[in-house]
Amino acid sequence: MKVMKFGGTSVGKPERMHSIAELITKESEPAIVVLSALSGTTNALVEISKNLAENERNVAKQNIDKLEQHYETFIEGLLKTPEANKKAHLAIGEHFEFLNIILKISFSEALNKDILAQGELMSTKLFSAYLDEAGIGHALLPALDFMQIDAHEEPQIGNIKVKLSQLVAQHKDKKIFITQGYICRNSKGEVDNLKRGGSDYSASLIAGAINASVCEIWTDISGMHNNDPRVVKKTVAIDQLSFDEAAELAYFGAKILHPASIWPAQHYNIPVRLLNTMEPEAKGTLITEEAGSVGVKAVAAKDGIVAIKIKSSRMLLAYGFLRKIFEVFEKYRTSIDMITTSEVAVSLTIDSKDNLEDILQELEPFGTVEVDENQTIVSIVGNEIVQTPEVMKLLFDSISNIPVRMVSYGGSKHNISLLIPGEFKTLTLQVLNKGLFGL
Ligand code: ADP
Ligand code: ASP
Ligand code: MG
Repeated sequence: MKVMKFGGTSVGKPERMHSIAELITKESEPAIVVLSALSGTTNALVEISKNLAENERNVAKQNIDKLEQHYETFIEGLLKTPEANKKAHLAIGEHFEFLNIILKISFSEALNKDILAQGELMSTKLFSAYLDEAGIGHALLPALDFMQIDAHEEPQIGNIKVKLSQLVAQHKDKKIFITQGYICRNSKGEVDNLKRGGSDYSASLIAGAINASVCEIWTDISGMHNNDPRVVKKTVAIDQLSFDEAAELAYFGAKILHPASIWPAQHYNIPVRLLNTMEPEAKGTLITEEAGSVGVKAVAAKDGIVAIKIKSSRMLLAYGFLRKIFEVFEKYRTSIDMITTSEVAVSLTIDSKDNLEDILQELEPFGTVEVDENQTIVSIVGNEIVQTPEVMKLLFDSISNIPVRMVSYGGSKHNISLLIPGEFKTLTLQVLNKGLFGL
């Protein structure tokens, strides 16, 4: 059994849904097909939720109607027969009825999660309707019946395994199973999600749970590129990455993969393939335990970083100082990405401003605290680059005009990270593209 995940753009147009049906039916192996919402839908739902939280009900209503219109048109392009059309309109109608009911009740965080879940629920229903019309046998497995996270938002892989196997076993005659990415249930049994871009994470968790032969992530680009194609003009696809390299790239900003999506595949040793729906014959990127080669593979950037510097003469020759500082971040469940220390100061970075005020207040007794927002981490990733001296030379020659605020070297063998002011991101990625890849 394999897993095939199709992202927003891969299902975002009726003709794309037609082509992914073709891709799936070509398979000889049974497949669990994980779908995202149609591109733009989750953004629209986030906006509707925001309108409701701000009590802007008229604006929310306008946005709901606009989204409904989009789906009405989509169905016309997707399905041919009047019966299939009618069925799909009824199925999608239920979701818009739900959104219209929500307009009338008071907003809550639980409702927000319910709203965000509508996209994947609708895309899978539409795809299932198309497969029905085309006479392609399949089963629709509701992710809300097996995908579960605990009170710390960690996936309950054991439960997922048991429940998913039971669901699959109920359809012994089927080879194609369709399910929703992104959505799940939390420890209270409420509808929740795996955060933006989370369908990749769903796919990898499912692949781990069923011990899949491969986890295919189908998107709108032919694999992981050496640099961010949204920022830099000339980028090239990478043939092979190790799990460690891919995890670093995903965590440090390569949007093609959700930051947490590699660990389940790595844990269960399931190869991941990044493929392009628009160019299915392209080789894409294979991610396995093997790195393939030594040297720099790619650079990625993560925005919205906050740098915090704590300066204190008490740190001089003192032990236990760092523990006390780390405890503050632990208390607010905020993870630290980069850290550097000197005799009298420690600088570190976090990627969330959620508890910043409280954290800063609790750090105050330890010394002078300085904060810089809007920073960017640029990570240079590649197998054993830390042991490759020429990489350091090329790297520092390339960034001689960039005001680097922090450097992290040696934390892992595969990553060198730089902290720079956000406004230097484009320039940094460009000079690294030239300096490290000659592009
Ligand atoms: P999907 O909707 O299929 O999940 P995403 O938009 O989440 O697709 O991810 C694919 C996009 O990731 C690409 O279109 C590309 O712009 C962006 N991206 C950012 N960094 C990289 C990279 N290093 N390699 C490939 N794509 C990248
Ligand atoms: N639809 C969700 C999002 O846009 C999940 C995903 O596409 O992976 O974030
Ligand atoms: Mg994505």
